[in-house]
Amino acid sequence: MSSPPPSLPTGWQTVIGLEVHAQISSTSKLFSGATSKFSIEANEHVSFIDCALPGVLPSLNGSCVEKAILSAHALGGEVSRCSIFERKHYFYADLPQGYQISQLQEPLMRGGKVSIALEGESSREISIERLHIEQDAGKSLHDMLAGKTCVDLNRSGVALMEIVSEPMLHSGEEASAYVSKLRSILMAIGSCDGNMQEGSLRVDANVSVRAVGGRLGTRCEIKNLNSLRFLRQAIAYEAMRQYEIISSGGRVSQETRLFDSEKGVTRGMRTKEEAHDYRYFPDPDLPQVTLTSEYIEGLRAVLPELPDARIARLVGTHNLAAYTAGLLAEDKYLSDYFEELSSKVEGLSSKDVANWLLGELSSCQRERGVGLAGLVSDYGLSSSRAASLLSLIGLGKISARAGKEVLSKMLEDSDASPSSIVEALGLQQLGDREELLPLLEGLLASNSAQVSAYRSGKVAVFGWFVGQAMSLTKGRADPKVVNELLRELLSG
Ligand code: ADP
Ligand code: MG
Repeated sequence: MSSPPPSLPTGWQTVIGLEVHAQISSTSKLFSGATSKFSIEANEHVSFIDCALPGVLPSLNGSCVEKAILSAHALGGEVSRCSIFERKHYFYADLPQGYQISQLQEPLMRGGKVSIALEGESSREISIERLHIEQDAGKSLHDMLAGKTCVDLNRSGVALMEIVSEPMLHSGEEASAYVSKLRSILMAIGSCDGNMQEGSLRVDANVSVRAVGGRLGTRCEIKNLNSLRFLRQAIAYEAMRQYEIISSGGRVSQETRLFDSEKGVTRGMRTKEEAHDYRYFPDPDLPQVTLTSEYIEGLRAVLPELPDARIARLVGTHNLAAYTAGLLAEDKYLSDYFEELSSKVEGLSSKDVANWLLGELSSCQRERGVGLAGLVSDYGLSSSRAASLLSLIGLGKISARAGKEVLSKMLEDSDASPSSIVEALGLQQLGDREELLPLLEGLLASNSAQVSAYRSGKVAVFGWFVGQAMSLTKGRADPKVVNELLRELLSG
């Protein structure tokens, strides 16, 4: 197969609607008392209900409904006062009941919105169609015993929220921004732990392409994407695949596809013709869920600060771009840390502090394989200690480059203060004109050829002089002062 060009040609548009399955944080499953904890060992957490022995009766876990209502409030949707559970039938080895308990006609929530902001763009609202509660299925393991399929029922019966968006997203980047915003909202209210690796949040992406302004195209649904990178890759690949079919005169057939993350391609799994007839009907074992408006509204009152409110505050009081504020607000710990840190730092703007956190400090985290909380607890990088380092840069005591060196020493020795490290390594910035002047005069004197080249119009030599001055001082010279002095000396 020829490898597809990276993006659709002008005049064409990708359309994406997402179905997100978020595991509801709860100690037990949706209809049984078994624990819903993640487990490496298969079939550790399975009750009679989860393996569907005859005669067992499900009973609804009220705390899961409560978390789903909190989520509905956080998404700004309309909570249904009366919702019903239905059986959705299909035959699969990892579904011992022969049906999944879900909600079709009366979901817990309709409507709602998630706002997203891409880099350099203002924010945009993506509408949500519905949120319903359902139970998870088990898992078929094809690689445990040669030639055999094993079934792990740990997940069987675990409570999920399925959150379905309108087809309003137009790129993998938008889809990924939508999922990470949704994830941060659910994490902020504690209704889902957001752990994509362990499968607490999985995404089905419905993708179609169309000529801009035209009717919606036929969609394919890519199942079970469990990372944002895979989501972006799968959408980009699938959009090009469909475009190539259409532009060579073919028709896209509606089907379910799987993403092969090793090859970066999507592959057909089943076509519309083979689609299941789920034979939904209300589960006779479960009464309908009737909620009073006092109860529903009471839950609205206990919502904590949501990521959008935090973003608005970061934009308003710290003057950050919506995109940067969004990155910080994805993680409550990070945005708390940012606010503490920027209140303590002298001489740098909040924007500089945010860039330092999201740039330099996050690469430190990747290198060490820890999160920000880990840097704080295991490496002693409290916000006050980080603030002393940043203030040294902000007040011109050390250069940003020296700051990197100080940071890495601070992480090696969690007791050392930034200023003692600066002292010990002799990293103080040379910003004193009197101190730098003789040094630069010496530089000019021993490079008279470059001086005359500059004076006869080769202005690019200026940069070379700056570079020499910086390396003479091992990066300690204040580049601003060096620039000023060199300009004076060279023009003279
Ligand atoms: P189903 O239950 O069969 O998957 P739904 O009507 O519930 O069907 O739609 C599921 C998802 O597909 C929704 O997120 C919706 O926005 C999206 N969707 C519907 N039509 C299209 C389309 N033409 N292109 C992209 N996404 C679509
Ligand atoms: Mg679907």
